[in-house]
Amino acid sequence: MRRPSPVWHPFTQHALLADVPVVVSADGCWLETNDGSRLLDGISSWWVTTHGHCHPRIVAAIAEQAQRLDQVIFAGLTHEPAEAVAAGLVEMAPAGLAHVFFSDSGSTAVEVALKMALGFWLHSGKPARRRILAMEHAYHGDTIGTMSVGARGVFNAAYEPLLFEVGRIPFPADGSIGATSGALEVACSGGDVAALIVEPLILGAGGMLLYPPAVLAEMARICRKHGVLLIADEVMTGWGRTGTVFACEQAGVSPDILCVAKGLTGGAMPLAATLATEEIFEAHFSTDRRRTFFHSSSYTANPIACAAARANIDIWHSEPVLERIVRLTELQSEALAPFQSDARFSSVRQLGTITALDVKVADQGYLADIGPRLYAAFMERGVLLRPLGNTIYTMPPYCCGEAEISRIYNLIDEVVGALD
Ligand SMILES: *Cc1c(COP(=O)(O)O)cnc(C)c1O
Repeated sequence: MRRPSPVWHPFTQHALLADVPVVVSADGCWLETNDGSRLLDGISSWWVTTHGHCHPRIVAAIAEQAQRLDQVIFAGLTHEPAEAVAAGLVEMAPAGLAHVFFSDSGSTAVEVALKMALGFWLHSGKPARRRILAMEHAYHGDTIGTMSVGARGVFNAAYEPLLFEVGRIPFPADGSIGATSGALEVACSGGDVAALIVEPLILGAGGMLLYPPAVLAEMARICRKHGVLLIADEVMTGWGRTGTVFACEQAGVSPDILCVAKGLTGGAMPLAATLATEEIFEAHFSTDRRRTFFHSSSYTANPIACAAARANIDIWHSEPVLERIVRLTELQSEALAPFQSDARFSSVRQLGTITALDVKVADQGYLADIGPRLYAAFMERGVLLRPLGNTIYTMPPYCCGEAEISRIYNLIDEVVGALD
């Protein structure tokens, strides 16, 4: 059957979606559709909106930059917004990250990280170090390379022939380090590992699975001991989501490579960055042009996106962002507390501003029918929540107040109560 629109939506089964609401505007934690109704954005529009939609300073920065310099090739030329963002990132990121490579999505930031790691070892005279290690249940994006390092499943089964092999480190279930550190030690001691890539403290698309800072610190220690590079994918966790600017801070870990995207522009424009240590940059620094870091996209460091990111960094320095995060974290804890003893749910959990809880059902996993049913029920009642299978999670923008938070949890209670 033909649909009225030619648009093919992401992660959307059109045969099961009757109609796609048209969003016309956004403000703070609210979206407005063309029929005049409002939707509470409980997931920060897929984890990107940090301060709130249409933050006036970010909007103004975009408008101002668009009139001055819209786009310019970034190979061999530079511009002030990019220089300011790079300097701001180096200052805010964990110590030791000294160089910033721009791209335009989280997936690309991860691809760049993997290429930097391989480039580093080749140019350091150790081409045998070419294997990548990744965590069980990981998600790092939807391009071929990032799917390769991500968990295999229904999302990427069709593309399996294109994916490369990686070493898989078990997820520290129940927060216990033993199996994870043991497997990492064994894998690293082979001498063929280039890098371990991790989502620090919380695996997002894998189901909002938490693990303690001590485990991250231990993984970093083992990598360091064996000379294996540590890549921290902070595409979701960055910009305050977990309570600190970057999740790595909570473990006192400085990765060799750091990937940021989503909240880098406050969620207003697509922009990403991959930060690397002096050592990694140095390995590529040579009069031998074969050592060039061969990567680019047309819109690398687009000035309008960089202006949005600069405004975001300014907001972090001049507004009480961490205080808002502390407040939201408390609101989230209070609202979540009654669910701890609610027999309909299990694994009720929180990390900073993010909460998650699993609905007890026989049929679990991402394709469980319950996911789309819950989604539809929340949408009908004006709240945007997009469960991962039977896992309901919330990741609201930092401007959400008590009224919005209680609305979200009242609705979770109501909708799950109405399930047959
Ligand atoms: C969203 C996400 C990505 C991919 O980012 P895109 O901008 O969607 O390409 C990568 N890693 C993690 C941890 C993410 O949550």
